[in-house]
Amino acid sequence: MAESPLNNIRVVLVNSAHPGNIGGAARALKNMGLSQLVLVQPREFPAANAIWRAAGAAELLDNAIVVDSLQEAVANCGLVVATSARERRIPWPLLTPRQCGEKAVVEAATHPVALVFGREDRGLTNEELQACNFHVHIPANADYSSLNLATAVQVLTYEVRVAALELERGSALNYTEWDRPPAKAADMELYFEHLQQALGELEFIDPNKPRQTMTRLRRLFSRVRPDDMELGILRGMLTAIQNHIYRAGGQGRPDKPSGSNSRG
Ligand code: SAH
Repeated sequence: MAESPLNNIRVVLVNSAHPGNIGGAARALKNMGLSQLVLVQPREFPAANAIWRAAGAAELLDNAIVVDSLQEAVANCGLVVATSARERRIPWPLLTPRQCGEKAVVEAATHPVALVFGREDRGLTNEELQACNFHVHIPANADYSSLNLATAVQVLTYEVRVAALELERGSALNYTEWDRPPAKAADMELYFEHLQQALGELEFIDPNKPRQTMTRLRRLFSRVRPDDMELGILRGMLTAIQNHIYRAGGQGRPDKPSGSNSRG
């Protein structure tokens, strides 16, 4: 298995007419951290113009694999995605560019993945499109949805990179990298009890009908998922607010909610 999923994702250019586009695609790949370029019957390759457009990515052209057919280019791939500038007549499982990036990166951890691009003038044939598992369309201006070939490669390889970075970082909060553990469920319940009491005393909510607001606040804090120290601060703030109310009202404190860590 390749160490980075990006090393297991190849870009296949079918029958490209302009070597400049091959060079531009090579540059896009290298910029996004990909390295495998496969060319199916390029009309002009190698070419000086390809090297010129590749700029600092010329080694990808040296290492490009040139083959005779799409079948050959994707033979050992477990996932093959075709790109298309148009919505086709034959419906096919469709991915958005974002879904395509995510799927490519996830699957590349276990098997080779190919992203297939068509000819500048005619795109991919129906037969070629039907040799692929999914189709992906960049939702460009409907009046002019056909991107330059190298630009389309750039957009889709960018999505692959974003997905790879997300995966590396762990899209959800990773508590081994956080300085405090998440607040415990029981402490969250004590907090909600405390919050409801304090908001009632503030007359922000009707203590007899706290429901809607409390439900929304519960949902807010479920999204935030405070850590134990953040929850302690929130509870301390509620206590300070309550003490202020009691002092202003000149009345004794009502029952303290359980588990309160008063700072006042
Ligand atoms: N006239 C051709 C245009 C091909 S553009 C057609 O209508 O099919 C050349 C290649 O760039 C396409 O085969 C595809 O691989 C890619 N491409 C261009 N625009 C795209 C888009 N909006 N979404 C996905 N791929 C696109």
